[in-house]
Amino acid sequence: MILKRALVGAIATLTLFAIVFPLFFLPEQGGKLEQKKRVVLPERKKAKLAIIIDDVASLEELQALLNTNIVFTPAFFPPTKKTPDTPKLAKLVGEYLVHLPLEALSYPHEQEMTLRVGESFEIIEKEIGKIRRDFKNLKALNSHTGSAFTQDRVSMSNLLQVLKKNHLLFLDSKTTHKSVAVEVGNTLGMKILQRDIFLDNNNNMTYIKNQLKKAVTLAKKEGFAVAIGHPKSNTIRVLQASQEILQEVELVYITKYM
Ligand SMILES: [Zn+2]
Repeated sequence: MILKRALVGAIATLTLFAIVFPLFFLPEQGGKLEQKKRVVLPERKKAKLAIIIDDVASLEELQALLNTNIVFTPAFFPPTKKTPDTPKLAKLVGEYLVHLPLEALSYPHEQEMTLRVGESFEIIEKEIGKIRRDFKNLKALNSHTGSAFTQDRVSMSNLLQVLKKNHLLFLDSKTTHKSVAVEVGNTLGMKILQRDIFLDNNNNMTYIKNQLKKAVTLAKKEGFAVAIGHPKSNTIRVLQASQEILQEVELVYITKYM
C-alpha cells in the first residue's frame, strides 16, 4: 500500500514536471516575457591606474597638481625644518601617503629623519608613532629613496612589523630591484604593493609622456598598475596634456587598492 502510494506520488510529480518544465523553453511571445528575460550586461570595466606624486612638500606644488584635475595620490614627507607644512597639506586632500625616507646606497641630499639600515624596532616604532601623531588619519606609507634599506631583510622586517602593529600599509617605491619588501611582507602576512613605472626619472617631456603611455599599457595588460612621479613642472604639464591617454584607464587613489 505504502509502495503504491509512493509510486502514485512519484508519477504525479513527474507528470507535473513534464508539463511545467517545457514552459520555460517556450518561444518568447509578447514584450512582457521578453523584457523579463533581458539580461543587462555589466559595462566592461576599465583597467585601473594609480598615479602617486612623491616628495610633495608645498602648497604651491599641491595646488599645481590639483589644477590638472587628474586623480592622483600625493606622498608627503614627514614634517621637517625644510618641509614643516606637510601635515597641513594632508588635511587638504582626502587620500594621501606619507613618504618615508629610508637609507639609500648613495644619495647626496639625504632627507632629515631618514631611517637607516640596522635601525632597531624601538627606534622605528618611535618614528612611526610621531608620524601617526602628525597625520591623524594616515592609512599607508611609501618609501623615499631606500635602495640600501629595502634590500636589508632585518631592517625591512623591523619596519614592516612596526607598520603592521600600527595598522599601516606599505607601498614599495622599488628604488632597487633587490628590494625584499614584498618577500618580507609575505612572511608577515602583509600584502605589499610595488611601484611599476617611474614617470620622470628623466625630466624630458617626451620621455615622461612615453612613461605615462607605458603605465597605461601595463594597467590594461595587468588590470592594475602603479606609477610614481614628482611635482616637477614638466611632469605636471604632461599630466595636464594627457587627458586623452588617461581616458583609457580608470585613475584611482592607491590607498583604495592597498
Ligand atoms: Zn621621494
